[in-house]
Amino acid sequence: MSLQEHVTAVFTEKYGTTPSLVVQAPGRVNLIGEHTDYNDGFVLPMAIDRGIWLALRPRDDDQVSVHSLDFGVTAVFHLNDLQHTKSGWGEYIKGVAWALQEAGYTLHGWEGVMAGNVPKGAGLSSSAALELATARAFQQVSRFAWDAAQMAKLSQKAENKWVGVNCGIMDQMISAAGEADHALLIDCRSLETQLVPLPPALDGSGTAVVILDTTTRRGLVDSAYNERRQQCEAAAAHFGVPALRDVSISEFLAEADNLDPVTRRRAKHVITENLRTLNAAKAMQNADADLLGQLMNESHISMRDDFEITNNELNIMVAVAQTQRGCFGARMTGGGFGGCAVALVHEGVVDGFVTAVAQQYQQQTGLSPKIYVCQPSAGAAVVAHN
Ligand code: ADP
Ligand code: MG
Repeated sequence: MSLQEHVTAVFTEKYGTTPSLVVQAPGRVNLIGEHTDYNDGFVLPMAIDRGIWLALRPRDDDQVSVHSLDFGVTAVFHLNDLQHTKSGWGEYIKGVAWALQEAGYTLHGWEGVMAGNVPKGAGLSSSAALELATARAFQQVSRFAWDAAQMAKLSQKAENKWVGVNCGIMDQMISAAGEADHALLIDCRSLETQLVPLPPALDGSGTAVVILDTTTRRGLVDSAYNERRQQCEAAAAHFGVPALRDVSISEFLAEADNLDPVTRRRAKHVITENLRTLNAAKAMQNADADLLGQLMNESHISMRDDFEITNNELNIMVAVAQTQRGCFGARMTGGGFGGCAVALVHEGVVDGFVTAVAQQYQQQTGLSPKIYVCQPSAGAAVVAHN
């Protein structure tokens, strides 16, 4: 049974009637453009075919009641009396209600049943999926127009200000605005977006995006993240610009000798990563899987040697993936110091790729990876209406 069928069946049993509608919002993976977001640069994520499904019906009052099948708990709150409770998944739902009301939307209550299949805390943004599914639910029962960028910004505000997690705009933007078969180039300064198709292989076959979870997690390295941000800010200040986005490669090369070696490497990563990301979007438009893969490989080297955010397991995973037949390219994805890599693979050899990578990674690290073959998918949507 699909998750959509599951939430529908449980809703029907619980309330004795079919749900008025089912909404869904996806998780995501970033194909290229890492640590560029806070430098006002470019990112290129795609929504994946894993997400949160929510079967619901409107209520006549201001109560919101959501039963989570994954946690076996029901969260209940009133729109006219939003209170922080001990942290948990319900706070994301409440946070979206708070941000929408703060922005002036008049909201109606609803009740529903929810389930998801984005692994939690693996860097595939289950939290954005939860926020955008919630935003879709409110948009439907409260009958206002769906503005993907606005819903993304308010969901980010919910996560920043209500939940208290300091994330950028990428996750919410792709979960709100993704399209099937496409990735989304996002300009993190202007928030302009451009859809680009996943390129086919040269023989006309499709390509698959494979997420390779090392199962290592970053642990207590917020300090390393803050340090990277500070180094980038210092580099931008050296060039007298608001962000590294504003430094061209020729300006960087002309000035590189006057930067200390660490700042030079950090700036080099961000400046070249922005170029790679723009080139990757062009390669996708030109249906050039080889070039996209090559840019992914170069991105990994830059994160390993210049930005220094990979760990041993990520380097092993990427090396193992890159040596497989039918792999166009691979790189670590996400914040770094653990988590996932992403590979672009010829569709015809995916099964063999998954088996070989799992086996060789396990051999070299002693760890069992988690591997997800993903399709580029649509953003938050109503998937059933009764
Ligand atoms: P991620 O990298 O997956 O976004 P986060 O820590 O940002 O990790 O968000 C994970 C949190 O999102 C979970 O702890 C939970 O509160 C919420 N969440 C994710 N998936 C679900 C789900 N299927 N049902 C309820 N809550 C969920
Ligand atoms: Mg998250």
